[in-house]
Amino acid sequence: MTQDVYRELLDVMKKRGGPYAGMDIPEFFALVEELFTPEEAALNNLMPKGPFTAEALARETGRDETEITEMLETMANKGVCTTFMIKGLRHFMGPRFMPGIFEFQFMPGTSGERDKKIAHLIWDYKKAFKAAQGKAKMVFPATRVITVDRYIPAGNVIHTYDQMASYIDKYDSIGVTTCYCRHGGFLRGEDTHEMPMEVCMQFGPSADYAVERLGGRRVSKQEALDILDLSEEAGLVHMSRNTSDDIDFVCNCDRWHCEVITGVMEQDKPALFFNSGFQPAFDAEACVACGTCVERCPPVALELTDEDAPPALDLDRCFGCAACATGCPSEAISMIAKENYPPPPKDSKELVAAMKAAYKQAAS
Ligand code: SF4
Ligand code: SF4
Ligand code: SF4
Repeated sequence: MTQDVYRELLDVMKKRGGPYAGMDIPEFFALVEELFTPEEAALNNLMPKGPFTAEALARETGRDETEITEMLETMANKGVCTTFMIKGLRHFMGPRFMPGIFEFQFMPGTSGERDKKIAHLIWDYKKAFKAAQGKAKMVFPATRVITVDRYIPAGNVIHTYDQMASYIDKYDSIGVTTCYCRHGGFLRGEDTHEMPMEVCMQFGPSADYAVERLGGRRVSKQEALDILDLSEEAGLVHMSRNTSDDIDFVCNCDRWHCEVITGVMEQDKPALFFNSGFQPAFDAEACVACGTCVERCPPVALELTDEDAPPALDLDRCFGCAACATGCPSEAISMIAKENYPPPPKDSKELVAAMKAAYKQAAS
């Protein structure tokens, strides 16, 4: 029975999809047997595709509503089920591994023995999954970089979607959680390069969910701006969904642990799949060829080839993140718009349509 329930769970996680959908390998079973008790796995397998209430699930399965509600609440608190309000009614939903269960495990930032065990199990599953699947082929960017707008010289066109502060301004509810990519690395005993940890930001209902269930902390607009400053000083990259309007999270990412950055770095031309639409421009007079920008550049897009000149720039690698500009002691770098760079899709619907079209074209 126990084994059967996890085999059924494999089919469910395959159907939920995502970059790490269910895969029939030993690492899958090692992971899910730690994440779900057999009873939780059985309930997970009964969940419909979209949002549902405990009352509806109890009715459809002929089970006791109080018992189901308690189990769903427990599962939501351990990050294997999502929950939110729709028209004043509590709803639940079965998440994918990613985005979803994997991130939820580390967002609270706890470091107990079970957290460490899960960090290793998730890592083992991802490694085995990638080895079995081969290199993921990207065709359209799902996420984008948001540059540091104070380095864009006056007189240049700058859209609201280029401005981090515009997202913070738009929302009254802002939450911050631990960076799950770096915290996962920390739990596995890896070097986190002294990068700030509590820098993942959520907005609106996503912030409420993070604060209520994922150990997040509510922050004021000023605190959110301070977190951006701290991230920029450390050389982290601002990242969000590749849309202009419906942004409900902002990540501040590093090159060693970020799932997105490490993924795009595997591509031949990383800048095609992760970009802000800006690039650095160097003031040759002000530059003292100190090499700080070269060290800070996450995708290794800069190289000092002449001791009296600014570094050479590889546009196929440059994200347009401005980590070079924020660290330059001579203020010799500004960020200028890339020529003919297309604006991001407006919202998630347009993004999904653009991704589908790109995959269709790549397959033909
Ligand atoms: S995507 Fe970036 S900020 Fe978000 S959790 Fe990963 S590294 Fe941290
Ligand atoms: S950090 Fe500034 S001064 Fe140093 S090499 Fe880069 S552009 Fe030149
Ligand atoms: S050169 Fe490097 S640090 Fe500067 S914007 Fe490009 S990717 Fe970022």
